[in-house]
Amino acid sequence: MKVLAFSHSMDLVLELISAGRELGDVSLIMTSDQEGRINEVKGAKEILLCKGMGSGDQEGLVELISGLAGDYEVVLLASDRRGRELVGQVAHRLGASSAVDVSSLSVEDGKLVVERMTFGGKAIAVEELGLPAVISVQKGKFKPPEEGEPSVREISAPSVERRIEVIERKEKPKVGVPLDKAEIVVAVGRGFRKKEDLKLAYELADVLGGVVGATRPIAADLKWMEEEVWIGISGVRIAPKLLIVVGASGQQQFAAGIMDSKVVVAVNTDSKAPIFEQADYGVVMDLYEFLPVLTRKLKEIKGG
Ligand SMILES: Cc1cc2nc3c(=O)[nH]c(=O)nc-3n(C[C@H](O)[C@H](O)[C@H](O)COP(=O)(O)OP(=O)(O)OC[C@H]3O[C@@H](n4cnc5c(N)ncnc54)[C@H](O)[C@@H]3O)c2cc1C
Repeated sequence: MKVLAFSHSMDLVLELISAGRELGDVSLIMTSDQEGRINEVKGAKEILLCKGMGSGDQEGLVELISGLAGDYEVVLLASDRRGRELVGQVAHRLGASSAVDVSSLSVEDGKLVVERMTFGGKAIAVEELGLPAVISVQKGKFKPPEEGEPSVREISAPSVERRIEVIERKEKPKVGVPLDKAEIVVAVGRGFRKKEDLKLAYELADVLGGVVGATRPIAADLKWMEEEVWIGISGVRIAPKLLIVVGASGQQQFAAGIMDSKVVVAVNTDSKAPIFEQADYGVVMDLYEFLPVLTRKLKEIKGG
């Protein structure tokens, strides 16, 4: 099987290649802004380097990938926000089957079989896809290949009839250690009554040397925090050594994002909150009483 792969984020490229190698030879598309990291790529058969296009050009990428896809059975993309968006756009353009957030893939009797979480992470769906297929691969499921030098072939950018005009680009402020790489995370939920109160979580994270994440309502609905810090099935999946979940109920969509955490501590006033099913340590208490005391005690221990 021939596989065409692309990721906006260079950090996910090696995992994509590894996933693609489960099926066959992988050709990786790289854009002008990714060229500087070309030497990091291992395990692909070839790199298709498009110097005339940047990875931020979503409309151009749809054209580029769709134009090349005719020579491949499977298109693999990363399961980040822009990757998932491309899955729909490219699959629609090709009339191909599609699946997002795939955690395993294989060929059985000439058919492509993929696995992915369903029912908010409560079950694994095994799906058989017709070819061609466009798939996004869940982060952290495939071990990056360590060897195999790809050949490099330059390809030209397609001409694109644009419907979106980019007026301005702004760098987002960096939010410290990315959540998915953090060893200690304090996750906040709607138990916090107002944005200013989140300082209680930041103070705790500070003393522990950790970072603060959130449930979806805190980031997406209330917009108290950046989108990058929302944890769960539709957000970031985290795997810290210590996770302290404060004022979050632990609904399945959130819980699916914390399954790989080592030690989970939950603070919640409701002893029946689902988060306690996932917690190693549970504190049934008002966060407004508990967090200041915990932070103070930790400071004392550190100070002494
Ligand atoms: C398709 C889909 C995808 C979704 N994806 C995600 C996702 O990726 N991530 C995500 O988080 N959600 C996601 N959701 C939303 C999810 O279903 C829940 O609604 C959300 O996780 C609940 O957020 P919460 O725990 O902050 O709020 P709530 O469920 O309202 O929980 C608040 C908790 O705080 C406790 N509390 C209240 N006051 C205090 C206090 N003073 N001290 C201590 N505890 C207190 C309450 O007892 C309660 O348990 C998704 C939903 C859908 C439909």
